[in-house]
Amino acid sequence: MSAPRNVLVLGSGPAGYVCAIRLAQLGQAVTVVEKERLGGTCLHVGCIPSKALIAAGALLERIRRAGTMGIEVGELTVDVQKLVAWKAGLVERLSGGIGSLFEKHGIRVVPGAARIVDRHTVEVTAGGAVSRLAADDLVIATGSGPAPLPGFDFDGAHVWSSTEALAPDRVPEHLLVIGAGYIGLELGFLYHSLGSRVTVVEFTEGALPGQDRDCVKVIERSLKKRKIALHTRSAARGYAVKKKGLEVTVEGADGTATTIACDQILCTVGRLPSTAGLGLENAGLVPGDGGFLTVDSRMRTAVPNIYAIGDVAGQPMLAHKGSREGLVCAGVIAGRPEEYDARCVPAVIFTSPEMAAVGLGEAEAKAHGREVRVGQFPFAALGRALAMQETEGFVKVVADARTDELLGVQMVGPEVTELIAEAALAIELGATAEDVARTIHAHPTLPEALMEAAESVHGLAVHVFPRR
Ligand code: FAD
Repeated sequence: MSAPRNVLVLGSGPAGYVCAIRLAQLGQAVTVVEKERLGGTCLHVGCIPSKALIAAGALLERIRRAGTMGIEVGELTVDVQKLVAWKAGLVERLSGGIGSLFEKHGIRVVPGAARIVDRHTVEVTAGGAVSRLAADDLVIATGSGPAPLPGFDFDGAHVWSSTEALAPDRVPEHLLVIGAGYIGLELGFLYHSLGSRVTVVEFTEGALPGQDRDCVKVIERSLKKRKIALHTRSAARGYAVKKKGLEVTVEGADGTATTIACDQILCTVGRLPSTAGLGLENAGLVPGDGGFLTVDSRMRTAVPNIYAIGDVAGQPMLAHKGSREGLVCAGVIAGRPEEYDARCVPAVIFTSPEMAAVGLGEAEAKAHGREVRVGQFPFAALGRALAMQETEGFVKVVADARTDELLGVQMVGPEVTELIAEAALAIELGATAEDVARTIHAHPTLPEALMEAAESVHGLAVHVFPRR
């Protein structure tokens, strides 16, 4: 067996910490440098805290709907301080869990901000003290941060980024969200369920740019139903502080400017890879398009002993994509024949209803030159969805017209962020639509919708009227 390699992992988000643990499992000597807390964006100001608060918001919504089931509940109130403390508690528990895993795997943690000095040396600054660490290999896993928007400096008071929105000290009366991407919409729905009036301003033609438009229509209907105003083809240009709150200037597609009054702005216009101050130039690394580090399928940068994983290594900026890259990277460093060869990366959006997608959409598949057949099944025709009072939405299956190979699945509706895993597995294993249709799904369950949508590819869904 070859001697263990001495590896420095910069950043402990879902890419970095997963990579570190796998490196240790494979017998390498690992040190992690982290300038904030173990767990990164995902654990502290991203996936976990947002989904914790969204779970609370969804519970509120379910209780409000319970009247139709004969369950009468008195007036609901939310103690924001307690809610935020509950969320902080579970984040701390998970962060401590990573610390314990590191300890048990013999992974050393060096707190502080890392700066690359040369391809084998990193300088770490913590509380004014500077130290140096040497390594055989460096793994850059420094993640990303919220993109700024001119005229809307994140001041934590008038203008929140997602970070402040996840630790509020009050529920705003009127929240104006700039950017209708998944983070803005998830938080918009959350604040609506907590009692805010919500307005969303979006630069492009619709909510959730880049997502399946049929699914998005359901989300846009849901926004309308909740009286969440969505201003599309509109650009937020700046804001003024008035006696009674804030006034945001919004420019429409025709160039006319209007103002929208609110008492809180949330700016979620994207995220940028974190490479500033990292000393990339000292190792001869130059960020590529969009500021991302360019890597090959083995997570190697242009410098042989330097790897990059997670958000800093490119789209899609999702935790599970970063973790997979971390596992691949660790295997490569340990001398295994690893490669990032995932066929698909599922995407999940915790709006109300939820949305999820994996693989190719219909239009995308056609653009790739594939002739496709599409099947669709509505949750309104599913017993389990009716019993849950969650009938909005559908499952859509895109299959190759010639081979029946499953190319993609898009879903909007109840618990689709969970249901998408089956579709991802099916695509990863090269299943056909018929394979999914012939798999016996337990009744009554939500995954039956995927089975029926797969049947529908061949016009054979049982619980819908025949196409004439
Ligand atoms: P990060 O998690 O950003 O971690 C990078 C770490 O590196 C940080 O701890 C940082 O402190 C550290 N670091 C940076 N620079 C240095 C340095 N110089 N020295 C030392 N340490 C450094 N993704 C999903 O898949 N599902 C979701 O539901 C989801 N929801 C989200 C909700 C919100 C509100 C946000 C903001 C993001 C969400 N994401 C979600 C995206 C997800 O959080 C990121 O894709 C993921 O965290 C990226 O992981 P990473 O390890 O690459 O980087």
